[in-house]
Formats: sequence, structure tokens, C-alpha cells
Amino acid sequence: MPFLGCHLSVSGGFEKMGRDALSIGADTFQYFTRNPRGGAVKEAEPADIAALRVILAEGRFGPLVAHGPYTLNPCSADAKTRDFALMAMTDDLKRLDENLPGNLYNFHPGSHVGQGVEKGIELIVAALNEILPGVRHTRVLLEAMSGKGSEVGCTFEQLAEIISRVSCPEKMGVCLDTCHVYSAGYDIVGDLDGVLEQFDRVIGLKRLCALHLNDSMTPFGSHKDRHEKLGCGSLGWEAFRRIVTHPALKDLPMCLETPQESLSGWGAEIAQLRSFLAGGGVPDECGAAPAKTAARTKGPDAPAAEAQKRPAPEENCQHGVAEAENGRPAGQKKPARARKKPGTAAAGKTSRKAARRPAGAEKPSAPAKAGTRTRKKSGDGNR
Ligand SMILES: [Zn+2]
Ligand SMILES: [Zn+2]
Repeated sequence: MPFLGCHLSVSGGFEKMGRDALSIGADTFQYFTRNPRGGAVKEAEPADIAALRVILAEGRFGPLVAHGPYTLNPCSADAKTRDFALMAMTDDLKRLDENLPGNLYNFHPGSHVGQGVEKGIELIVAALNEILPGVRHTRVLLEAMSGKGSEVGCTFEQLAEIISRVSCPEKMGVCLDTCHVYSAGYDIVGDLDGVLEQFDRVIGLKRLCALHLNDSMTPFGSHKDRHEKLGCGSLGWEAFRRIVTHPALKDLPMCLETPQESLSGWGAEIAQLRSFLAGGGVPDECGAAPAKTAARTKGPDAPAAEAQKRPAPEENCQHGVAEAENGRPAGQKKPARARKKPGTAAAGKTSRKAARRPAGAEKPSAPAKAGTRTRKKSGDGNR
């Protein structure tokens, strides 16, 4: 079962975010590491962090997503702007390593502003090569972008190229934003299996570490970035039902960044997504009905059979990040895990027939394709 949450404001502190998440039935969340436009950072109180960590453990939260500010542009043409990105990301990651080890740091790769994609990628790789050696307990995610303006990272090939050229690729991952990828021309509405197959072939599903769940105000392939409430945009509820119930995405943290007025709006969306996970169908209306209860519907599987161990960076991302200290009872042993053998990535063999299935048709409940994922057969290990 994926972890579900939304973007929360850090302005009330860390414990407050944990309480807000609990109040809307979330078991993950995202927050900005610093003012998204300015760049100022608020010093975290150790007691505040400690209080959040208790909430995360008791609530069995999945990995959190710390989001770097929008203003960072590690591939700017301006050296000062690049230096600021380097400083801010290094500082963000140091704090995360210290305060909330085992979680995720997501950032926008940047805009090449007329220098060309190749130059943009070169600058992003150079920045990451300065940053990554110092990162110990945090996975660094490139966000897949819609391709507006001169954004880098709007194709799987560009993301793969960045990852393949950094010095520590094992510390890297990708965050897919449903609005962005649909706008970028990946048809997750009509052909989710095909897009995931393509992702696996080009980047590798083991690098997919988080999702942003957003509907889109603009049509397929628009290269715009206009988030809409779930079910109210060009993706529609059925797409989100398939995404949250897709076997290849089942252990990932998924955060809403939809334009809601209040926490209860995200609570209603989370409740609807949990209803899909329980086998429910899609609502007739746009948007989510107000949630009757914020109670989290955890499955009966709570084996709690995991050691409180930091992820070794080279491990499969989904397991690696899921082994954050969040929600992990101390001192418990983790079952041995199968290692993926090199050369078994039969990614291209994913069902083409499935890819052509018409929208609205039922997805077969086949397990994840062989070789696409290193995972245990059962007991997904984080509940
Ligand atoms: Zn983002
Ligand atoms: Zn966006």
C-alpha cells in the first residue's frame, strides 16, 4: 500500500506538521526546506524535531519528502545563482541527514535559460557532484518536470542522463509528478503500464522513490504546470485509482500538491484514494467528497518485522527509503532480502497488450514484472 499525504506548511514547526498529517489520515507528507521563493531557513528546535519523530514512529509513517525551494536553479547561466543553489542544497541535506535521516530530498533540476539542455545537464551534474559526497542518510530526487520554459528534466532520458553522470548515482532517485509527466507527454491516463515500462527501461523503477499526485488544468502534452484538484482536471479520478493501486507503485510515498483551501480538502482526497485501495470505484463528481473520518485504514498487515537500520545507499530505493526510521520499532530484525541480479531487467517485456488496453478497462492484477523491482513477495515491510 502506498503512503499518502500532502504538502504541508512548515511555518508552525515540525511537530505541527506531524499532527496536521495525522488529522487528515496521512502517513507521509512533504514540506519546503526553506521559504520556497526567498530561501531563508528557519532553525529547527531539537525538541520540535524529536516530537515529530515520535509521531512518525507511532503513526508508522513512510518516507517524508523535503522539497527544495523553487528558486533554486543549479543550471542557471549566472554563477551567483548556481552558487546559491549549491549552498542551499548542501545546507538542506546536512539538516535532513541530522534531523530526519532516511527520508527524501526532492528538487527541480532547473532551467537552462537558453544555454541548451546539454549545458543544463552538465551544470546540474557538476552541482550534484559537489553535493552528493557529503550526503549520508538522504536520497536526493530529481523531480520530473512538465517542460515549461527551458526546464531540464522533462523527459525520462534527461533524468537518466543526469543520474548516470553523477559520481554517486546510488544516492539519487526520481519523483514523478502526475501533472508534470502528463503535461510533458507521458500518457499515464491511457497507458500507465506503458509509461511505467518506459520509465523502467530508461531510468529503472528502482529509482522511482516518490510521486506527486496532482490533476492538471491543461491538456495532455501541454508542457504547462497547472495543478488541479484530483478528479477535476484532464487526468480524472480513474487515472488516480489506477496509480494508487498499481502494483509497481505500491510502496511509494505519494504527496498531493492540489490547490485546496484547507487541510480538510486534502483529507477528503486522501480518503478517496484510500477507498480506491480498499477496492472502491471512482466518484461521479469532480473533486473528493468531504471525508467522514480521518481515520487511517491500515491493512491488517503490520508485521513490524524490520530493523531500525539506515538504508544502505546502494540498496533498492523502495526498500532503502522505506527503511527510514519513521515508523520503525526499534531493535527488530528485518527479513533477508533478495538481491536483484544484474542483467535481469526484462523491462521491455512488459505487456504491450496491457499498454493498449482502452481507458476504463480493468487492469490485470498481475504482479510487478519480473526483474523490474527487487522486492519481497509479501509483507511490504513498512507497515
Ligand atoms: Zn516540485
Ligand atoms: Zn507542478
